[in-house]
Amino acid sequence: MKNVLEVKNLTKIYQNGRGIRDISFDILAGDVYGFLGPNGAGKTTVMKIIMGLCRAQKGEVKIFGHDSTTQPERAWQHVGAMIENAVVYEYMSGYKNLLLASRFYKDVTPARIDEVLEMVDLAPFKHEKAAGYSLGMKQRLGLAAALLSKPKFMILDEPTNGLDVEGTVKVREIIIHLAREHQVTFLLSSHLIHEMQMVCNKIGIINNGQVIKEGLVADLLHNEDETLESFFIK
Ligand code: ATP
Repeated sequence: MKNVLEVKNLTKIYQNGRGIRDISFDILAGDVYGFLGPNGAGKTTVMKIIMGLCRAQKGEVKIFGHDSTTQPERAWQHVGAMIENAVVYEYMSGYKNLLLASRFYKDVTPARIDEVLEMVDLAPFKHEKAAGYSLGMKQRLGLAAALLSKPKFMILDEPTNGLDVEGTVKVREIIIHLAREHQVTFLLSSHLIHEMQMVCNKIGIINNGQVIKEGLVADLLHNEDETLESFFIK
């Protein structure tokens, strides 16, 4: 199995002393890797560094074998990401939002825009203004934008955060479908244990800026473990 992501000893300490320390983990092709941790644990910081949105003080990130600092274009070539909430222009239709997003990529055709709208179940609403979309629909529009370039690896920071039950279920179904039917590898973050159990095959548990456990969901979460029970919402 090939490594899609290699993270080694990532460290970033903000001026207030908070941040992440010596984070290391690998993701293999086909994994749906969940980064599980309570609020403030450091999940977004790690994802932002992987995406080049902020700099680590120490450590290294390789994506598909390419160093994200020295070879960023190669590293991010096949990556789609949604860090925190989706960016949506409310006065435009869903379709026009994607048309705008498609300008960041080469070779995204109108047919591809229709394809991703189908994947996220937004095709019937594509000409409606995004202002009228529910939060779940906006989140799915963000997913659609991240899918435009046919990424092989997707990084999604708390993709179900703030969604109602229906929106949450839909986003999870889309992730599972993309992993199984389109062989997309995922790095997801969440503070919900049951979400990780449903969607992921592997997890890394992060608390206070450090990975405290890592392994197959089947091994980690199905064992009674009081340290986990104590700080996660079930
Ligand atoms: P959440 O689920 O609440 O988004 P998280 O696990 O994604 O949390 P981070 O956002 O990475 O955690 O934050 C990790 C720690 O670093 C937190 O204590 C946070 O307050 C702190 N932090 C994050 N960004 C900054 C910043 N720009 N300046 C100072 N401290 C920060």
